[in-house]
Amino acid sequence: MKIIEMQNDYINKIKEINKEGKYAVLTMGCQLNENDSEKIAGMLEKSGYSKTDDLKKANVIVFNTCCVRENAEDRLFGKLGEVKKYKEENGTIIAIGGCMMQEKHIVNKLKQSYPFVDIVFGPHTMQDFPKDLYEALIEKKKIEDILDIDGNIIEGMPIVRGDSIKASVAIMNGCNNFCTYCIVPYVRGRERSRNPQDIYNEVLDLAKKGYKEITLLGQNVNSYLVSERNKLESLKASNNITNIEIEDKPNINFNVIKENGEKIVVDSFAKLLRSINTIDGIERIRFISPHPKDFTDDVIDAIKDSDKVCNLIHLPLQSGSTSILKSMNRKYTKEQYLSLVDKIKAKIPNVQFSTDIIVGFPGETEEDFEDTLDVVNKVRYEQIFMFIYSRRVGTVADKMENQIEEKIKHERFNRLKKLAEEIIEEGNKKYIRKVEKVLVEGKSKTNDKLLTGRTETNKVVNFEGNDELIGKVIPLKIVSEHMWYLKGKYDNI
Ligand code: SF4
Repeated sequence: MKIIEMQNDYINKIKEINKEGKYAVLTMGCQLNENDSEKIAGMLEKSGYSKTDDLKKANVIVFNTCCVRENAEDRLFGKLGEVKKYKEENGTIIAIGGCMMQEKHIVNKLKQSYPFVDIVFGPHTMQDFPKDLYEALIEKKKIEDILDIDGNIIEGMPIVRGDSIKASVAIMNGCNNFCTYCIVPYVRGRERSRNPQDIYNEVLDLAKKGYKEITLLGQNVNSYLVSERNKLESLKASNNITNIEIEDKPNINFNVIKENGEKIVVDSFAKLLRSINTIDGIERIRFISPHPKDFTDDVIDAIKDSDKVCNLIHLPLQSGSTSILKSMNRKYTKEQYLSLVDKIKAKIPNVQFSTDIIVGFPGETEEDFEDTLDVVNKVRYEQIFMFIYSRRVGTVADKMENQIEEKIKHERFNRLKKLAEEIIEEGNKKYIRKVEKVLVEGKSKTNDKLLTGRTETNKVVNFEGNDELIGKVIPLKIVSEHMWYLKGKYDNI
């Protein structure tokens, strides 16, 4: 039986026994993790459950975990302590999925210390969640559904989106890079890209539903289709088969039939950007996370030529020191990173950057850290996501002996934070009196008399306006700047 047919079979079985049940999904990770949570919610709603934010009222609670940072573990175990009483009082089904479940020591800890958990499942078996849930409901048994090999990409999963204006679309899964601090390649497996036609169709469908902004997601988005192309190249070399035969191979097909019937070839990330850019209704395209080593000229040209691709590029730095970058296995030097930034700036007018930085990686000296500050000073990022290095069991860096003292890590983190805030504060001034295109996302969470939206560069802008503006891209004159938001004016333009 096909995977989605089997999934539907179990969804129907659950529907027969589920009487107005409620569910809660708690997401503890990145945007890919959030996208997975939307699929878990999709399967639950199709099974007849409705969403609740009140954990006491939930019949099923699903934790969707992440294992990139240590504090996610603390959060999970803390929250499990809280939901234990709901299990005891109401018989709530407790399920835990996501990347953390691929880590054996975590699953062992759950079995020993949290035996009330009903289901554990990994990212490679998420599509079987209805089967796991049905068996937990009917047979009252504990389910451990984890696969140690790379799961296939499953198309056609139900999905309940958390937003009606912005949507994320996963384009690939896994990673081949093995940065020495990162657990992702071990838990998500090797890179697998979705067929371009499936991505095109998903974005087209979102556009027809009124979505305005799409974020293309992947652990390493700009190596989209690279593994597939390489595999086909080596197949071609060994079997001496023709391109046409290769294109027809079932697992990947580079041909995309557009809505107007035009047939195009999409065999790279750059071409994917160009194809999505032609979809009517979509006004903004973002993507995370690219890797600097794969930021090829065709990607830069595609961003330049595609009017809907935002001019904020997230370019993870991680460290500004060439020797730390080597030890991180990042495959670029400080100089290469800076010359890439210069090349992008020269080609794309008004481009801005955001980044990720890890402070206190094993062996980081004061001089290495100053290299990081130097890059931050030179690039003048719009946004910096800063992390204190945390050891992850199973990674190469965890075994490095030259770990940095916590006190030094925190002191460096605070210095970087201070510099980042100075740069952001100074950068905000450039918006004053300028007219920015803002996608209006809804009411401000802190003041419901104001609307809120974002510039192309992802700056939050609050302003007074009519609810009819929600979901539209409008020009706003920026009248004042504050550390984490700008204030805009809609009239007078
Ligand atoms: S590129 Fe590096 S940091 Fe990103 S997911 Fe892959 S291994 Fe982890």
